[in-house]
Amino acid sequence: MDRTTTTYFADVVSNALLTPHMRRVVLEVHGDWASSGIADEWVRLFFPTPAGEPAVLPVSQGKGWSFPDGVPREGRWYSVRAVEGARLTIDVVVHEAGVAAEWARTATPGSRIAISGPDGRYGAEGPVDWELIVADMTGLPAALRILGELPAGRRAVAILEVQSADDEQEVVSAADVAVSWVHNPDHGHAASLLPAAVREAAWLPGAPYVWMSAEAAATRDIRSFVRREKKVPNGYADVVGYWSIKRNTAR
Ligand SMILES: Cc1cc2nc3c(=O)[nH]c(=O)nc-3n(C[C@H](O)[C@H](O)[C@H](O)COP(=O)(O)OP(=O)(O)OC[C@H]3O[C@@H](n4cnc5c(N)ncnc54)[C@H](O)[C@@H]3O)c2cc1C
Repeated sequence: MDRTTTTYFADVVSNALLTPHMRRVVLEVHGDWASSGIADEWVRLFFPTPAGEPAVLPVSQGKGWSFPDGVPREGRWYSVRAVEGARLTIDVVVHEAGVAAEWARTATPGSRIAISGPDGRYGAEGPVDWELIVADMTGLPAALRILGELPAGRRAVAILEVQSADDEQEVVSAADVAVSWVHNPDHGHAASLLPAAVREAAWLPGAPYVWMSAEAAATRDIRSFVRREKKVPNGYADVVGYWSIKRNTAR
């Protein structure tokens, strides 16, 4: 069964500014929510209604969700930055307009939402010599967890795009990671600078695994670059759009 179709209540434990454009929300999940163990795992968060009805557990209807009280809730996918027992850490980009961004700005300890079970995709199909990890601010929570879980001896190149130098975070890893930060002050308005940065990056010898999560136009560009120009085979690249600059990204 798809784990993401099971839903749970989750209470906000804390909500604080992590960097100028990112809030850290810690949730305490009820019931038997269990991590998938996949480093880029994500969950769907179902946000409070504008009228403030109590949270209910959504029921999966294949492509959509139904709500027992008949009142629809907006849902968005978020990475699990860290998990400790029933406590999940979620890092949310606070951009200008969106139900998730607004929730992150205003959620108070004790308030309740619903979340789904986790799923993830990180990992190459076979052995590799090094990893290329690329993310904008939406992919940063998962990228930092991936880098944090890499073993000693693994080589990795990380290219991370944030809005300003103050949005950079410490990269903690046992692996041998070369980190480049890219600053995009127009995040949300201008195209990502990641495609150019990836093209300019050092490509280490041997077989790579490529993981990238960022704005959809940037990931389309790099997916094609990685497959066509770098000849990375299927099963050795997970390059996925996490949001879209051109349209409302509700998924
Ligand atoms: C698997 C997965 C994991 C994800 N993990 C994370 C995560 O850990 N942290 C995180 O912050 N995001 C993450 N995202 C991205 C997040 O789900 C989207 O950014 C989402 O659209 C935000 O919802 P919203 O309600 O705030 O804005 P929406 O209602 O979806 O969009 C409203 C407007 O805001 C714009 N917009 C949306 N997101 C952004 C943004 N980040 N910056 C600037 N403008 C934006 C849209 O283009 C649109 O014009 C993840 C997405 C996926 C698919």
